[in-house]
Amino acid sequence: MRKARIVARDTSPQCKQCRREGQKLFLKGSRCFTDKCGVERRSYPPGEHGRGRMRQSEYRTQLREKQKARRYYQVLEKQFRSYYDRATAMEGVTGENLLRLLECRLDNVVVRLGFAASRRQSRQLVRHGHWTVNGRRVDIPSYQVKPDDVIAIKSGSAAADTVRNATELTAGVPAWLQADHDALTAKVLRLPERSEISAPVEEQLIVELYSK
Ligand code: SF4
Repeated sequence: MRKARIVARDTSPQCKQCRREGQKLFLKGSRCFTDKCGVERRSYPPGEHGRGRMRQSEYRTQLREKQKARRYYQVLEKQFRSYYDRATAMEGVTGENLLRLLECRLDNVVVRLGFAASRRQSRQLVRHGHWTVNGRRVDIPSYQVKPDDVIAIKSGSAAADTVRNATELTAGVPAWLQADHDALTAKVLRLPERSEISAPVEEQLIVELYSK
């Protein structure tokens, strides 16, 4: 009963977020690949005036891109801004640094490895302590993975079946990661190149927004 209530509460807003951004952000796992996808069914933005024409100023375009990135990685505004500040302090291209920081969050990496069907599911698995990094339990979704980190399901975890089911939906694992879907373990081989980050985001627009 409790599970059904949680699903009912959470589903609609996620599809609305995609419709608001006008594209699929893959927030709901396997449903996103079916014709039940909210974007496939209704390609216009949510709300009473969703079908109307909206003026796209430069600022609005940049703001939308930032919101899209936030929604894709399921990060709150304050946290997102702090990632940006960290990205600007790093060497290299700020926008790429920003995406790399987001991509290397443990909750995102668990999805990329095929161990969860969505970021929401992944975050729940992490928060409930089902994963270890280098042998130590990590229950912080924002934990930054680094090269040579070994990620593994906690011994005796009750979530093993859920994770195995998720691996069956996975088409492939990016080249910067290595996953063993039988043992439910993985390794971070290196940090991702920009071309290996599949987030549908034009990061330069976000940099322009925050640079104003
Ligand atoms: Fe909903 Fe997934 Fe489609 Fe987004 S991609 S609208 S979350 S079903």
